[in-house]
Amino acid sequence: MGRHAGQPTAGTRRAPAHQADKDHRSHPGPAQWPHQYVPRPGNLDPAIAARLKRSADGLVPAIAQQYDTGEVLMLGWMDDEALHRTLTTGRCTYWSRSRQEYWVKGDTSGHFQHVKSVALDCDADTVLVKVDQVGAACHTGTRTCFDDDVLLRAAD
Ligand SMILES: [Zn+2]
Repeated sequence: MGRHAGQPTAGTRRAPAHQADKDHRSHPGPAQWPHQYVPRPGNLDPAIAARLKRSADGLVPAIAQQYDTGEVLMLGWMDDEALHRTLTTGRCTYWSRSRQEYWVKGDTSGHFQHVKSVALDCDADTVLVKVDQVGAACHTGTRTCFDDDVLLRAAD
């Protein structure tokens, strides 16, 4: 109905090319940016995701604690999806920084961590997962990751 009838067609033809170029530049491959956080698709509740304060590589440290004895078992790393899986599957799930893949504690060792509770700390940059640990939490076979390298034990 005669709106913007005077607009040159060249302008509309240029737009898609510009858009394509912009899209290309906004999706750098992992090879270009090896240390840049590339968000992985996750299903985490957006209300939780909005509050989470992640490291530069998109992770939060997760402390696993035995729910009844209070033992500090280990520290792992979670991205949004690992936290989502921990919240919804009943099994503690981490992101392996060395293997770059999700890792369900116990899948290879049988030493599962059955999730009892999950909490964020006061500034939402650390996760505390209280679990019922089956067997050893540490891959070295000790109950916790902190059993074999004690730097200080104060005298009574
Ligand atoms: Zn360990």
